[in-house]
Amino acid sequence: MAKKLNMRKRYELLTRGLGWEPTYQPKEKVFPQESYEGIKIVDWDKWEDPFRLTAEAYWKYQAEKDKKLYAIIDSFAQNNGHLNLTNASYINALKIFIQGVSPLEYGAHRGFANLARQFSGEGAQIACQMQSIDELRHVQTQIHTLSHYNKHFTGLHDPFHMHDRVWYLSVPKSYFDDARSAGPFEFMTSISFAFEYILTNLLFVPFMSGAAHNGDMATVTFGFSAQSDESRHMTLGLEIIKFIVEQHEDNLEIVQGWIDKHFWRAYRVLGLVSAMQDYMLPDSPMSWKEAWDIYFVDNCGALFKDLGRYGLRMPKFHEQATAEAEHLSHQIYFTLYQFSHAAAFQTEIPSKEKMDWLSEKYPNTFDKYYRPRWEMYAEMEKQGKRYFNAGLPQLCQVCQVPMCFTEISKGKPLDLSYRLSEYNGDKFHTCTDACKAIFDHEPEKYSHAWLPVHQIFQGNCGGEEISDVLKFYHFNPEDSGEYKGSADDISWRAAHGENNDIEESA
Ligand code: FE
Ligand code: ZN
Repeated sequence: MAKKLNMRKRYELLTRGLGWEPTYQPKEKVFPQESYEGIKIVDWDKWEDPFRLTAEAYWKYQAEKDKKLYAIIDSFAQNNGHLNLTNASYINALKIFIQGVSPLEYGAHRGFANLARQFSGEGAQIACQMQSIDELRHVQTQIHTLSHYNKHFTGLHDPFHMHDRVWYLSVPKSYFDDARSAGPFEFMTSISFAFEYILTNLLFVPFMSGAAHNGDMATVTFGFSAQSDESRHMTLGLEIIKFIVEQHEDNLEIVQGWIDKHFWRAYRVLGLVSAMQDYMLPDSPMSWKEAWDIYFVDNCGALFKDLGRYGLRMPKFHEQATAEAEHLSHQIYFTLYQFSHAAAFQTEIPSKEKMDWLSEKYPNTFDKYYRPRWEMYAEMEKQGKRYFNAGLPQLCQVCQVPMCFTEISKGKPLDLSYRLSEYNGDKFHTCTDACKAIFDHEPEKYSHAWLPVHQIFQGNCGGEEISDVLKFYHFNPEDSGEYKGSADDISWRAAHGENNDIEESA
């Protein structure tokens, strides 16, 4: 009687048996992207399949997960689950998610589909193909889940159109575009390793436990559904790094350079998450700083100790990111607060309870640097002068975040930080030594960056007036500005039988 093969063996047969040596064309022409980055692959058969999942099993698992998810979001909608949130201001976090993150899922879907075509190893082809399908499912489940909120709240109606145009969304978009316009090995180091392996917990944990803390069971459910794929994706991220480095000694330096660059780029994207986590969740499960200490300092510290035997070290500028952890969310949320008249979400001064929570979580920085500013803005608001910044901010040429960062690693947290590079007779500004190093390494690439503020000034974003630009973004007037008294605030209060007199902020 034939012995049943184990999963590993079956998977090996499945993947290894699919390839063939091309005869009509040389291999380099069939897989034209595989060599120009300088990565040398000697033997694709050494690839350890990280997924070990047959197509049959894959469809079965995913169908089961989808069945559960759709049952929950149906009942959420039928029971008007959105009314059980802590507060409608929580939805602002979801707006950032669907505008900023869901389109990245779609970008990942396309990126991995390209990799499935570009890698010549069958094991890698199959893994990338499966991940590509996962990512498509992620974006679909997110759109379906959040479509319920779109019926009741502002800012959720056209996230993909916004993603390609809006100033704060160019931060995540430009990072993914950076990876997708690189070669296949760099894309994988960026997305699978730097983003999914090193930093994904800092994105998903605050969003998903944030959702749980604020009564959003629909988002928790799509989060869990995606998270179970994520463990496969993280395995892929780790395996690819080890595989590349073990294939040839020349690969190490190239890969380390990509880890340095994409760690920093992905970390800058997470600046938006830090603001969401500390300021936009009415009930925050943990602070950005606490999450950074657990998921980066501890977990990644241990990971890189392990990777030391492959010759890899912690990403360059990680000390800077850790030093910024006590300032990041405050500086980013200040920026969002000032410019939310041009955003598709609303902001507000943190409540008294929130400020006390921030003092407790940020004992070294909040009361000293940030509380006084909030109190000043609160005073201005009381006098009927809610602060909006009428100018357009200068953006970093690399991360595209408005220049809101300060010289923290130089011990001068009140001095604005910016760096200058020259290339082809033009000047380019970056936010830190880290972004400057990235620019200086590939100035040809970054000098072409599509910077939203420059594009507005050049007349490429609908017109001269802010209102023209907002139309170009597909924003509705009620999407933006101050939260208190916003359409979302008013309908929330009405639905909960509260009167609509706006409370004085403390
Ligand atoms: Fe995903
Ligand atoms: Zn930057």
